[in-house]
Amino acid sequence: MKSYDVLIVGGGVFGMTSAVELAKRKYKIGLINPDSIPHHLAASTDVNKAVRMEYGSDKEYFRMAEICIDRWKEWNDFFGEKLYHEVGFLMLCKGNMEDGKHRYEKQSYENLLASGYVTDRLTTKELKKRFPAVNANVYQDAFFNPKGGYVESGLVITKLAEYARSLGVEIHERQTAESIEVENERLKAVKTKEGITFHCGHALIAAGANTPYLLPELQPYIKTTGHPLFWLKPENSKYFSPPYLSFFAADISNSGWYGFPFVPKYGIVKIGKHSNGLLMHPDKDDRQIKDEEVVDMRSFLKESFPELASAPLVFTRRCLYTDTLDGHFWIDQHPNIKGLSVSTGGSGHGMKMAPILGEMTADRIEGKIHQFSQRYRWRHLGVETSQTEEARYLENRKV
Ligand SMILES: Cc1cc2nc3c(=O)[nH]c(=O)nc-3n(C[C@H](O)[C@H](O)[C@H](O)COP(=O)(O)OP(=O)(O)OC[C@H]3O[C@@H](n4cnc5c(N)ncnc54)[C@H](O)[C@@H]3O)c2cc1C
Repeated sequence: MKSYDVLIVGGGVFGMTSAVELAKRKYKIGLINPDSIPHHLAASTDVNKAVRMEYGSDKEYFRMAEICIDRWKEWNDFFGEKLYHEVGFLMLCKGNMEDGKHRYEKQSYENLLASGYVTDRLTTKELKKRFPAVNANVYQDAFFNPKGGYVESGLVITKLAEYARSLGVEIHERQTAESIEVENERLKAVKTKEGITFHCGHALIAAGANTPYLLPELQPYIKTTGHPLFWLKPENSKYFSPPYLSFFAADISNSGWYGFPFVPKYGIVKIGKHSNGLLMHPDKDDRQIKDEEVVDMRSFLKESFPELASAPLVFTRRCLYTDTLDGHFWIDQHPNIKGLSVSTGGSGHGMKMAPILGEMTADRIEGKIHQFSQRYRWRHLGVETSQTEEARYLENRKV
């Protein structure tokens, strides 16, 4: 009979960072996940994910990202692998940042300056010279922040899983949580589709987009939304590679478009859209990218990165956000079931916070208050709730 102090359901970034942190605190940890880790459909599994401090007027995420960037550098040393690439962040604006339509961009810029960061505000002429692949006629205003970039998220999960195993975490692949056994409002065990019962003193549900399906009481507060990703093969990668291109946001708060520099390992440039996405069921709905989404992407490139506009599209993917109605993570104990906690709600921006998610979750499991706990507690959200992540282009601020 398998028994743990804490059983973690889900080996994405929320689950794996919690496994490492709890094992460091000397708990006996088990972790279950379908198929293998990193799971090919997990949101955390990708070639790159952005790391940015630019959160508009949101000082808490700014501070969290600031801490995480320093820790990503420590992880590069600790794991002896370049997980985090500090290629910088290029913020592009159609129109002047002070024009009232660019609150996110303007306040992000002001936050950086107020915190003493050297950030280059670029004229059209400078933009043309430094980032020649960008159509500078379209973007009248821009700034470049050298502190930021991307992480190789799939590789991060692989490295964390190796480290977790070295700390004694028992990782059970090909195990899918199906039901949670509760007696007298106390969690007893987790049963899997594969017929195993895992007994534990505490269970942590970190199953990403599947979390609200394992805990239906979360469905009013957390949605699953699918978002398109496009991999394009540039004919000439020179001007799509650092220092000529960094992670970028293209008038993102009014368009949703963002992208990454050329990835030599795969020979591609990845483009994504941080917007409403499509409401969907993680297991039942078709994740295929629609033709009209490709047309939309091509017209964006035609206007913004003309050289990439007709580049071969070598791969597409619809990746799922675990989308809380307010856009904040969900890290807390269950209000009615003792011995049960949740760590989820990445809402399209959780990966960069990996270096801090584990301790936030472990503290909540131990009933402690972390400096960044209050906003991610179990909370009531309703139709009146607006999504607050300012980079995201959302109609009426609703998911
Ligand atoms: C298109 C897209 C772009 C993004 N871009 C960025 C970005 O640039 N920067 C950033 O910081 N963040 C970004 N994010 C957000 C980030 O990827 C997520 O917040 C984060 O990866 C979520 O991690 P997770 O552990 O909650 O979920 P996941 O990574 O999905 O992991 C959940 C795990 O649970 C497992 N699981 C599911 N059901 C069960 C079950 N029943 N039993 C056991 N295990 C189960 C799954 O197999 C999976 O391994 C993006 C997300 C998407 C979708």
